[in-house]
Amino acid sequence: MVVTCESQHLLPASFYQAALDSLQAQIAIISPDGRVLAANASWKNSVDAAFPFPDATRDKLNISLDVVADSAAFEGRPDLQAVIAGIRSVANQSVEQFYKEFPGAGPAAKKWFSIQVTRFLVDSSVSIVLMLEDITSQKLVELQLIEKKLLLELQAATDELTGIPNRRGLDRTLEQEWKRNERTQTPLTAAILDVDHFKRYNDLFGHLAGDECLQRVADVIRSHMRRAGDFAARFGGEEFVLLLPNTPGKGAEIVLQSILNAVRKLAIRHPGTSVESRLLTVSIGYSTMVPARKVSADTLLHQADRALYAAKTNGRDQIVCFEE
Ligand code: GH3
Ligand code: MG
Ligand code: MG
Repeated sequence: MVVTCESQHLLPASFYQAALDSLQAQIAIISPDGRVLAANASWKNSVDAAFPFPDATRDKLNISLDVVADSAAFEGRPDLQAVIAGIRSVANQSVEQFYKEFPGAGPAAKKWFSIQVTRFLVDSSVSIVLMLEDITSQKLVELQLIEKKLLLELQAATDELTGIPNRRGLDRTLEQEWKRNERTQTPLTAAILDVDHFKRYNDLFGHLAGDECLQRVADVIRSHMRRAGDFAARFGGEEFVLLLPNTPGKGAEIVLQSILNAVRKLAIRHPGTSVESRLLTVSIGYSTMVPARKVSADTLLHQADRALYAAKTNGRDQIVCFEE
């Protein structure tokens, strides 16, 4: 049916009401103070699902924005408070329109809704159109995609053999911690841990046994990452990197010494090592810096690597702190 401008004047109010009622979206036209001037059937039937109306204010044809705002505040729903603020900002003409997606309340807590708020003028009096839609199914797809993306990112940054972060995870965290400790002017310690004479271990016992050793060393390291922000990654091969934010050298030394001891305590036989105990051991080099803007985060790793080299040449199974 084509409705011409001329014929619109002739159409009865019931025509417009029927047109609004045919829409699935919940639509209400309200005055700036919240009086409902018109609403479609869908609004009347189900608007409760989206808004946490307290029992006393269940009159859907007379929304008190104040009461809904109070109720949203009471129920700890900043998103609903933002919706009310959005309606008000359209009503007082500070914005043209407002759109927000938010989860439902009460029995509809598992649902998602969108609200679109627009304004129109008739004879210089302002009216506001609220259009609520149930967007649960599209929101679920969206959330699943986000979850999948996060999982893929996590997998890409995780070492398959040991389950701890890999080099990619390290790069990201090192950059973040360098910046964070620069802002707070706190010391950041980086340590590189390398399994001693690991090539000979593989040669003696095979690659699978070697892999098992790496898993056990990773478990030891993981169990020592106790403070929020402590981070360990497999750097590649038989090397691991530890980042201890807000940790001065002395504190780091205690953690690293404990890791060194715990690896000795695994008591993995290694007849090919030059270490007297003939057990599998690790060497650790570390460096501590208060990050400065002009210095790159890699400097810290280079210094830790130089300390590791010293630990190796000094006889292995020991910790060395970088010194200029
Ligand atoms: P050093 O005490 O000087 O560190 O001697 P090293 O033999 O440990 O050092 P090198 O760098 O010569 O050899 C590292 C060896 O680590 C080589 C390889 O056999 C072993 N390796 C590296 N990655 C893996 C891995 O994923 N699994 C196993 N089983 N072995 C690995
Ligand atoms: Mg190595
Ligand atoms: Mg090694």
